[in-house]
Amino acid sequence: MNHDDILRDTDRCVKCGLCLPHCPTYRVTRDEGDSPRGRITLMQGLMSGALRDDAAVRRHLEGCVGCRACEAVCPSGVPFGSLMDATRASLIPPPRGAGLVGGYLLRHGGARRAASEGLRVAGRLGLGRLAARLGADDRPGAARAASFLPDVAPPPRASLVGRSAAADAAVDDVRGTVFLFAGCTAETFDGPSLEAAARLLGRLGYRVVLPEGQVCCGALDHHAGRAGDAAELAGRNRAVFAGREGPVLSLNSGCRVHLRAGGGDGFGERVTGLCRLLADVDLAPLQLIETPLKVVFHTPCTLRYGLREHGWMEALLRRLPGVELTPLPDNAFCCGGSGSHMLTHPQMADRLLAPKLDALAALAPAVLVTANVGCGLHLAAGIRRRKLAISVMSLAQLIDSRCGLPPGS
Ligand code: SF4
Ligand code: SF4
Repeated sequence: MNHDDILRDTDRCVKCGLCLPHCPTYRVTRDEGDSPRGRITLMQGLMSGALRDDAAVRRHLEGCVGCRACEAVCPSGVPFGSLMDATRASLIPPPRGAGLVGGYLLRHGGARRAASEGLRVAGRLGLGRLAARLGADDRPGAARAASFLPDVAPPPRASLVGRSAAADAAVDDVRGTVFLFAGCTAETFDGPSLEAAARLLGRLGYRVVLPEGQVCCGALDHHAGRAGDAAELAGRNRAVFAGREGPVLSLNSGCRVHLRAGGGDGFGERVTGLCRLLADVDLAPLQLIETPLKVVFHTPCTLRYGLREHGWMEALLRRLPGVELTPLPDNAFCCGGSGSHMLTHPQMADRLLAPKLDALAALAPAVLVTANVGCGLHLAAGIRRRKLAISVMSLAQLIDSRCGLPPGS
């Protein structure tokens, strides 16, 4: 999108203000500059040259959590998400040390594994709890990142990684092969979820493969305005999955939105989530237990506004016997996680999280289930700070935990 394209699309905004009550950042600050309408006006000023790209303008634009709640309610069809991405790309963010390190980690599996191991050691040493105790976790930086450490999980089993469909040809598959997308979070946060998904899909008759060579989906680069870097990552992932027939299962809604978009080579259509994959699948082979369990479900903005799959998630959860299901109140509002936003804008992230934690304290479920790893980390960090006895699980982990079959079967 060039400046003229951005101006043309922003001109669709009639400034009616219907989006304002749906915007989480405006709800907190009550500042027009933190509203969709205000941000669109700033984009128009920047693109027409009437405004300078200064710190105040950037603060309002970078403060957007990118939830796209405004887009969903806009009667004029303003494509706010792509406008914000294009505006950020045109602002050309200055390279920062941490950004360069992060970019390297998103692209190199070996370095990522080493960094993950370092984080696990730091977590075991209690550095996250120390940062929180010192009150150093409400500012951008290492202490904030450390506050997420207790959720650093072991990577998926080596036996799962790199398995090829050919090597598994002897398995008597009933339903075909599912390729797991692990992206950049597998070694650090997603190992248990990927294993849970592989376990339950195997029990349902799928052959499950986690191909090696995957990199970040590119969402973090894309939303930070680094479209070229995001496209390079997308190309590398497409090459990993090319020539393999079957759905690509991404457990995280944030990655899924990005993987689905663009390409034109059919890859996006292969990308699916657990709630869609299992929609018509009989769960009887899992022998699900009926023990009562109080579960609250969180629908990430990427699931609700990006994919519009929140209904699918709820439908799958309602098929679990014994589960007493309640939506997290105000699910339509962002929890503040929003990719790297919880690291770069910790105070806003925590203000958006606070009402969610109040609601969880009142509802007191045993489990909070969410469809995105970033939201899960943010929610879990808040739950720890409040000392609430609530486990945060992915959809795969929850279903796997309800499976009545003995381990290994
Ligand atoms: S609802 Fe749409 S047209 Fe109305 S102010 Fe918001 S972005 Fe503009
Ligand atoms: S994307 Fe979300 S935070 Fe950004 S302006 Fe729209 S509603 Fe507000």
